[in-house]
Amino acid sequence: MRGYKRTGGKLLLAMGAVLLLTGCEGRVEQYGSVDTAMGTVVSQTLYVRGDREEAETETAAVMELLTRLEEQELSWRIEGSEVARINALSEEVAGERRTRGRESAAEDSMAVSVSSTMQQILQQIWQVSSDSGGALDVTLGRLSRLWNLDAVAMGTAEISVPTQEQIQAALEDTGYERVRISQGTLGLPPGMQLDLGAVGKGVACDRVGAYLRSRPQIAGAVVAVGGSVITYGQKPDGSPWKVAITHPRKEGSYLGILSLTGEHYVSTSGDYERYVMVDGVRYHHILDPATGVPARSGLCSVTVVCDSGLLADALSTACFVLGPEQGLALAERYGAQALLVEEDGTAHMTDGMEEMYTAAE
Ligand code: ADP
Ligand code: MG
Repeated sequence: MRGYKRTGGKLLLAMGAVLLLTGCEGRVEQYGSVDTAMGTVVSQTLYVRGDREEAETETAAVMELLTRLEEQELSWRIEGSEVARINALSEEVAGERRTRGRESAAEDSMAVSVSSTMQQILQQIWQVSSDSGGALDVTLGRLSRLWNLDAVAMGTAEISVPTQEQIQAALEDTGYERVRISQGTLGLPPGMQLDLGAVGKGVACDRVGAYLRSRPQIAGAVVAVGGSVITYGQKPDGSPWKVAITHPRKEGSYLGILSLTGEHYVSTSGDYERYVMVDGVRYHHILDPATGVPARSGLCSVTVVCDSGLLADALSTACFVLGPEQGLALAERYGAQALLVEEDGTAHMTDGMEEMYTAAE
């Protein structure tokens, strides 16, 4: 461990595994770092044409853009982000209507202005929601907060399994099909709360990709934001990127390895992350919008590889909820590669996945 420095109040742990390589392109510095952002671990390996200082600068720039994305756009927890602003307005109007009288409470949608970037993100999400029959639904904020599984799994809250009435009440404020997205405006029923947790890390990888493409001195990179990964460019020796897929049931082991050349986006959704066991029941953080409870589709892990971080993340969550057959069909519809693993270990995969995946022994 090389040391640490503070950035934006966060502890930046930079692990400096450094290798100097000399080739016809000049010096390429390999620089590795592990840090946290967006409530998860971010690990970067960058291959930078230049020296160690330049590699460190690039690593810090990636961390900064992730923190900005979370604070200004996606987080529902951080006051002032665009999602938090939408949710606060929705809450406010719902409150006003409640005080005016019960009848008008659920009536009419309200309009909230959104940035063009947010509009584009939402439009892509809504497409996946519609293509998955609502298996992905980022309007379930009220439900995910009721379960509060992220906090429970982190140990900052106790599990309290909601009653059927509470679940039904939360579901009444959800439903992607009740939302209209048009020129700079979001029309939504007051009280609805957005939770972009299912796509945030994928969007983060898209932003990292755009940044890397703007930096000619970066020859190659693998950046993992929790379960979402971007591979970019190439290694000096031309060998493929290796992305390990976590074993859903054997802690510390991996299920297999993906070998990828060039730019790809990989996302894994599983029931082994952010979960608690209560009386033999696994309460995990991927909810089935149809039932309001953690999805039980027979799957325990889904990995999707495609050319967009947002889509990889959105599809991995949607496929998890849909289960093996419908999940595979959804991935194929998007031309994405997918690996879907059932609880008994049975693996299903698209043809393209077979070429990139090697199962562990
Ligand atoms: P991770 O956040 O570990 O990458 P996912 O991408 O699968 O996992 O997203 C899970 C998160 O998305 C949950 O923590 C919750 O905030 C939200 N969520 C849970 N179920 C759904 C769903 N069916 N559709 C949309 N968002 C969901
Ligand atoms: Mg996801």
